[in-house]
Amino acid sequence: MTKTMTCRSLGGPCDQQHTEATADEIIKAQDRHLRDAVKGGDVTHSEARDAMKGRWRHPKRAMDWYSGVKRDFAALPER
Ligand SMILES: [Zn+2]
Repeated sequence: MTKTMTCRSLGGPCDQQHTEATADEIIKAQDRHLRDAVKGGDVTHSEARDAMKGRWRHPKRAMDWYSGVKRDFAALPER
């Protein structure tokens, strides 16, 4: 009962897949992925990482993004 979303579908730059049971877990996995990529010196992920961090300073935008991810997740077929 898990679903898969890619880094790209979450606003990131690559096709790394996250397979989790809930949208919240997917968001956590993406957060980890962005952090690890940036720590590993991957500059293509720093913009998405900054956007992810900065999101919480913009509650309205954060909620819109969060609802969008939830909606996309709910619309996906289960695997
Ligand atoms: Zn990525």
